[in-house]
Amino acid sequence: MNDKELLEKAVLFGKSAMHWRQLFIGLLPEVNRRKLYEKKNCSSIFEFAFKFGGLSEEQVRRALNLDKKFEELPSLHAALVTGEVSINKLLRIAAIATPENEEKLVNAARILSNRAIETFVRDEKQNGSDKPEIEAKSVHVHLNDEVKLRLAELQEKGININEIILAALNKRELEIAEEKAMPVGPASSRAVPVKTERLMEKEYGTKCSISTCFKPSEVIHHTQTFALSHKHDPNYLAPLCREHHEIAHAINLKVREKRFQR
Ligand SMILES: [Zn+2]
Ligand SMILES: [Zn+2]
Repeated sequence: MNDKELLEKAVLFGKSAMHWRQLFIGLLPEVNRRKLYEKKNCSSIFEFAFKFGGLSEEQVRRALNLDKKFEELPSLHAALVTGEVSINKLLRIAAIATPENEEKLVNAARILSNRAIETFVRDEKQNGSDKPEIEAKSVHVHLNDEVKLRLAELQEKGININEIILAALNKRELEIAEEKAMPVGPASSRAVPVKTERLMEKEYGTKCSISTCFKPSEVIHHTQTFALSHKHDPNYLAPLCREHHEIAHAINLKVREKRFQR
């Protein structure tokens, strides 16, 4: 066996093992209910799961707890007992599951990676509640010495420095709005032009543009599918972190609606 063959085989076997283990875990709650472990001379479901599946007590307990938790949630229950969705993902979504949203959660769990599911659950939690208001008193603005000195000098002269700063902030916003209002022609390539990238950075900084997310942005996402629009229109672009980008593509999150609105 050469390196490539060995590696491929190892990855294949590893993935198969995880797949079969997930199916095994799904059967445990019912085996437990019917006390079938006794037929294999095991004193408990824990002994049975260890003997035949190499599972720890903790892993079995999680499956049994989820089974109980999903009593009134048929879609999630089905995802558990068929082994269609992993225990890890089910644990994450169990915290926010209700009869109203369980269908949506199962769909998300089917298509999203573990990392993205974590972000998805956090967003769902924050969906209903208002976004945390930034309180002026708790914000630390870092001004450098030159800016501090120059503002202080103006203040000494009785000049309204708040007005000066507000004017500068408003000017910045106007510039962004003007740039975004410019007509956008068809794109020559899939890559976002540097000029547009700079505009995105000017508007959103270096963070993900989802208002409740503070991870660094890693991609500029087209909220109108590029393949259809063939445009890099800044009104339909959103810098996103890796997880929100996966979510945006997987379940068409309404990225634009969740942006920071002032
Ligand atoms: Zn994208
Ligand atoms: Zn994000």
